Amino acid sequence: MKVFKFGGASVNSSSAVKNVADILIQYKDDNILTVISAMGKTTNALENLALEYFKKTDKKEGIYDDVKEYHLTIINELFTDKTHQIYTNISDIFNTLYKKIITSPTDNFDFEYDQIVSFGEIISTKIVSNYLSYKNIKNKWIDAREIIRTDLTYREGKVDWSFTESCIQQNILPLFSKNKENLIISQGFIGGGRGNHTVTLGREGSDYSAAIFAFGLNANEMTIWKDVPGLLNADPKFFKDTHKLDTISYREAIELAYYGATIIHPKTIKPLQNKNIPLFVKSFMNPENAGTIISNIENSDDIIPSFIFKQKQALVSISPKDFSFIAEDNLSEIFNIIAENQIKINLMQNSAISFSICMDADNRHFDKLIIDLQQKFKVKYNNNLDLITIRHYNQSIIDKIVSNRKILLEQKSRVTAQIIVEN
Ligand code: ASP
Ligand code: MG
Repeated sequence: MKVFKFGGASVNSSSAVKNVADILIQYKDDNILTVISAMGKTTNALENLALEYFKKTDKKEGIYDDVKEYHLTIINELFTDKTHQIYTNISDIFNTLYKKIITSPTDNFDFEYDQIVSFGEIISTKIVSNYLSYKNIKNKWIDAREIIRTDLTYREGKVDWSFTESCIQQNILPLFSKNKENLIISQGFIGGGRGNHTVTLGREGSDYSAAIFAFGLNANEMTIWKDVPGLLNADPKFFKDTHKLDTISYREAIELAYYGATIIHPKTIKPLQNKNIPLFVKSFMNPENAGTIISNIENSDDIIPSFIFKQKQALVSISPKDFSFIAEDNLSEIFNIIAENQIKINLMQNSAISFSICMDADNRHFDKLIIDLQQKFKVKYNNNLDLITIRHYNQSIIDKIVSNRKILLEQKSRVTAQIIVEN
């Protein structure tokens, strides 16, 4: 059994959807569950729609129309039979979305966000599933919200693992084992909380969804189909000379994702590692190429240095107002405030009387964090910074990367160097 994940770029046009169908045909003898993201940049558009809806502006109709138009164009190009059920199917879904955006929002933005943004995945999977059937590729569409159970942390749902695992084993596994189905199509990014509310798993969360399914199914392998040949040692947006990593360990992959390599969602590796399920990262343009294999094999990870650039970083320095030391009591208070504001720390460091954290400057809880910290501490921050992480570094690489930019903070472990520089 295999689990596949196709991201937004792999289904961003009618020809892209056809390409996905071509790949799935190659695997027609396998049992496959495939998770699919929203098409192209739909999630960004729906994010704006949620925002305008919440702010009650008149921009929402225009955004809604654009999203609808985009999908209708793709459908028109895929289905020459204009009486096909997909036309009413999709128009029903858009009507539901429209009804939603003309009702008054609650005062919980994160809740409203999830109810709206999740439409992207529902629409894309309906289109792909119908298209596959249209091309005689038998498949079954499954609503991930009925399978992946989360708590009610909207926009960052925490998975209820035992419920989800037994749900997968009771509802999905039998479909495969009784040979009733061998291709299941479901959504990435979305789950369901108690009371049938849609909860999303965090941006770019479809990789994580695929790993959750792989875990529950005890899959033999999982593949993320990307628009790059595999996992690269640097983001081609910033470096012209990149190398593909052929095989890396779970440990290395989780470190790279943690430091911000955007190719895999950071939560993806743990469920796979826990069940020893290898992860392939392959190109949907060249599906026959090997790509990258991530597995438990500890190999010579240290040969190629990897670079991770995180832009728009803020360095926040926190010090007690009374010149006392940064000690356990202060630290626990600081960490409480950080946790309450759901802040992810990208790097931290302390001195006698100050504690510094590096975080994403565009984090939506940033202002609230600063206000909360200021109740008790003196707070200074700087927010137009880059955080550069180099795995398997050496000094000449650091010098080359930093060149003549001003360094604000530098931290090194045996394998990882992290440097905060002015933009
Ligand atoms: N569609 C969602 C997003 O763009 C989830 C994903 O693509 O992984 O964030
Ligand atoms: Mg995506």
